[in-house]
Amino acid sequence: MSFKKIVVLGGGPIGLFCAIEAAQTFNSGKVTLVEMRADEYSRMNVPALPTPVGKHLEHLQIKAQAVGKSGAAPLSQIETAIHEKAVSCGVKMKEGWVAVDIIGKEKRSDGRFKSMAITIAQWDHAKKAASTKKREIISADLLILAVGASGIENDLFKKTLGFDTETLNASNFAIYGVYTKTYDASLQSKLQNEVKSIAMATAISTDNSEYLLLTLKQATPADFALLKQNSTKLRECMDVAGRAYQGQVMHELNAKDKAVGAFEVKIKRARHVISPKFPALLVGDAAVSPHPQAGTGLLTGFHGFEALQDLLQALKAVHRSSDEAVDAICAFEDSYEIYLSAKALEGTVIILNHLIGLVDAYEKSCDVDFAKAKGVEAKYLIRFNALGGNLLRIKMQSQVNRALRFAEMLHADVNRLDTKANRTPRSMFDLSGKLDDSLSKTPVTGTMQSNDSIKVLWKDIGDTYIELMQLTQSYKPLQDAIQKLSTALPPKPVQPQGVSV
Ligand SMILES: Cc1cc2nc3c(=O)[nH]c(=O)nc-3n(C[C@H](O)[C@H](O)[C@H](O)COP(=O)(O)OP(=O)(O)OC[C@H]3O[C@@H](n4cnc5c(N)ncnc54)[C@H](O)[C@@H]3O)c2cc1C
Repeated sequence: MSFKKIVVLGGGPIGLFCAIEAAQTFNSGKVTLVEMRADEYSRMNVPALPTPVGKHLEHLQIKAQAVGKSGAAPLSQIETAIHEKAVSCGVKMKEGWVAVDIIGKEKRSDGRFKSMAITIAQWDHAKKAASTKKREIISADLLILAVGASGIENDLFKKTLGFDTETLNASNFAIYGVYTKTYDASLQSKLQNEVKSIAMATAISTDNSEYLLLTLKQATPADFALLKQNSTKLRECMDVAGRAYQGQVMHELNAKDKAVGAFEVKIKRARHVISPKFPALLVGDAAVSPHPQAGTGLLTGFHGFEALQDLLQALKAVHRSSDEAVDAICAFEDSYEIYLSAKALEGTVIILNHLIGLVDAYEKSCDVDFAKAKGVEAKYLIRFNALGGNLLRIKMQSQVNRALRFAEMLHADVNRLDTKANRTPRSMFDLSGKLDDSLSKTPVTGTMQSNDSIKVLWKDIGDTYIELMQLTQSYKPLQDAIQKLSTALPPKPVQPQGVSV
């Protein structure tokens, strides 16, 4: 007898893909998806569509519905299409519900459980609490956790299931806007370059709008706080950036509230993707949250989904309570975990490079302040701060080097696994494209300390970040850059009659 019951927690794109696959592999009536949100999908960010995800949408016969003619669409449209497919495949949906308790069943001699009983409760969005009355118990032979980056920070998953996450305590900041195509006026390419000097820009066209994501190269928490707390400022900022970046099409922001957003880019990874005791595993952003500038959140999650496809096939061939079933679940960890660490390192390198850019800009601003400063004492203080920046740059450059060295080691590990499994060895690019890039630009130097680890590296980066934030606490380069850009822009063209935005 093959596997009986599978529960997926989290109905984002990756959880939905997993639920469909489980329903198609096993008896569809035995797959339940539990999703906290009860309302319609509404996220307006537009993920770049990686080829394997596009092919899978085609395989599910929902590509046109998910991404339209342009091949790109807001996440909400993609999720809605996959959701409909999941329902048509017989996945039982529990929307507006969360898991509140998990009890292990069928304990083996080594302490691992073969199955579990999951108590789910209706989620009260107003109170942000689970109902104490509306509850149900569902049993599961396999639990797939696809609850996203913030969802995994839950005592039930950490204490009961034993999942552990690590977060890099250093951030970048990103902002995005969704634009209509109302106007047609071109601007000097100089302005586009100015936007590029403050941010890494990703622009994607969908059937109905233009999406612009800016990962800010030089923004401090003070800059970000102003944008996060003041939606008018954020709108103004995206308006200026949109007009300057691609004047022809990005003229007017979509009027909807969710058309602009600002988020802190945090890199996080799970230390293990299978529970030490339960038949439960992590996929998607719950396992690793990559850097958006790498543009591969969906692709990273999809990699976990592909590993799950292999696992489901392996489980189909064995009895649900057999040792082979437990072994198959444990094997899920091997190469997927290496991939996740590579994604975490990729994000680490991108974050560090932006912070080095921030130090460069800070030092330049010190030069300007120095020229203006009156009095020896003031001049000394500015020089002292600039020197502090210089020291932090040296530290961060060495941290980039350490991250790249770990990446090389992971690549060697994954090649060993591939050779063992008779697979064609993968290039670093398959692990992470941006690391490949960084390795070719910055050859790794020096030897590794025997006690070094990603954990130690992240701790060091976190300490350096605190020093950097102290040094730059009153520095707001983004505000200045936007101000400069804004004054350089020509006046907004008059809106043509009959066009509503
Ligand atoms: C602004 C922005 C821009 C982005 N741009 C890109 C891009 O250009 N390219 C790209 O590939 N990716 C991009 N991403 C990332 C991409 O959206 C994510 O990688 C992807 O959504 C992850 O899918 P997921 O299913 O793992 O998690 P999520 O999409 O986060 O879904 C998790 C789901 O779990 C639910 N949940 C949480 N806790 C619980 C619980 N306790 N019980 C039940 N359900 C729960 C949540 O409600 C949610 O529906 C971007 C993300 C953002 C925020």
